[in-house]
Amino acid sequence: MKVMKFGGTCLGTEDALDRVSGVVRSEKDRKVVVVSAASGVTNALKDFVSKPRQEREIDDFLLALRMRHVDTVSKVEGEARKDALNMIEAKVTKLERLLYGVTYTEELTPRTKDLVLSFGERLSAIVLASRLSNDGVDAVPMETDALGFITDDQHGNAVALLDQCERNMGPTLETALDKGIVPVVTGFFGITPEGHVTTVGRSGTDYTAAVIAYSVNAKPIEIWKEVDGFMSADPKLVKDAFMIDRLSYEEAAELAYFGAQVLHARAVQPARQKGIEIVIKNLYNPESPGTVIGNGRMTRKDVIKSVSYVPKVATLKVYDTGAGYRSGFLADITSCLSQEDVNIFSATTSQTCVAVLIDEQQIPQAKRAIKKVIGGVGESFEITPGAALVCTVGEGLGYTEGVAARVFKAVAAGKVNVELISAGASTVAYHFSVNHKDLKKTITAIHDEFFGSLGDRKDAE
Ligand code: ASP
Ligand code: MG
Repeated sequence: MKVMKFGGTCLGTEDALDRVSGVVRSEKDRKVVVVSAASGVTNALKDFVSKPRQEREIDDFLLALRMRHVDTVSKVEGEARKDALNMIEAKVTKLERLLYGVTYTEELTPRTKDLVLSFGERLSAIVLASRLSNDGVDAVPMETDALGFITDDQHGNAVALLDQCERNMGPTLETALDKGIVPVVTGFFGITPEGHVTTVGRSGTDYTAAVIAYSVNAKPIEIWKEVDGFMSADPKLVKDAFMIDRLSYEEAAELAYFGAQVLHARAVQPARQKGIEIVIKNLYNPESPGTVIGNGRMTRKDVIKSVSYVPKVATLKVYDTGAGYRSGFLADITSCLSQEDVNIFSATTSQTCVAVLIDEQQIPQAKRAIKKVIGGVGESFEITPGAALVCTVGEGLGYTEGVAARVFKAVAAGKVNVELISAGASTVAYHFSVNHKDLKKTITAIHDEFFGSLGDRKDAE
């Protein structure tokens, strides 16, 4: 049995839906389909509730949302069409009540926000299921809150409670599958044990798909997108970049976390626990085998498989001459940042300073957080924007002599100054920061060093 996940760009147009329907129909094995919201819909919902609105604005917003989804069922006919339109209408009405509530109370709690955001997936599941039904598949839209996709209560970034998910969703989905039904399940959200809807983080439908595969013991998880798979580097920066056939779970997680937007980093965790492979597939090139992510092994003698990056990071340094002697200094800094939801990419420490890399967009939150503790924790601080974080990944990096030296020699040969290095925490990845203006040069230098031209690369494998 398979889980097939379709991202937002696979659901937005008639042409994409034609392709999705073709892919699902040509899969003869039993399958559960998992969907994201159509592209742009989650952002639209998020923007809409981000500021106070007039009643008239709600009507305009919902009209556009309804039309957008009704348009994508234009090829659906007869009963399937009637059902789809009724279901879309029912969802929009529910959302309307919710938005009026938010407008009247002038209050948006994290709980209500998650509930609002979940509507993108609720609508896209209806659209795809109706399209599949129209094309002869017995498809039924199913919502993860009703199925019992149980999570903790971290709204906006909830974590699935895998045992409970398995207990709840496993039997229900199995029963449906036994009847020949293809469940079309909503991604992105779940529900707490107390019954509040939670979302699992932006782009989190990959994670939903992995939790569902875990719950029904499906293998593999197919992630359908508009690219072939993970690449050796961003092809926009390196013209010789090529697709990677295979990655370990750790390699994929590091690459996903550090900039490769192919897979959500958290999807790896449930998959890994049961040894379920994840396959990246291209809706526009379904013959391509894609990148397979599974149990790790060193597959290249040169170790490095890919180099990814986060383009805009800032370095936050907190100074304290006595830091080396005080226990908890690093913990105090990371916890004050996490209270403001500042995400830390990497951290290094010395006896007098803690340096962390954060997203440039989060500088205001970081300042707010650190100002509160300076004087107690740390004597002074500085935040410097304008860096880029580079991540080199390869199973075996942590225990193969000379690889790090080759990385940094290549970078130095390009006359690039390396600012902050963090290595050793992961045995499959090194991260370091450089000035943003040197990003392309750095990535190209590393790629050339390890992959050379296409011909050299083949020899090295
Ligand atoms: N629709 C959600 C988002 O845009 C989840 C996803 O696309 O995977 O973040
Ligand atoms: Mg999305």
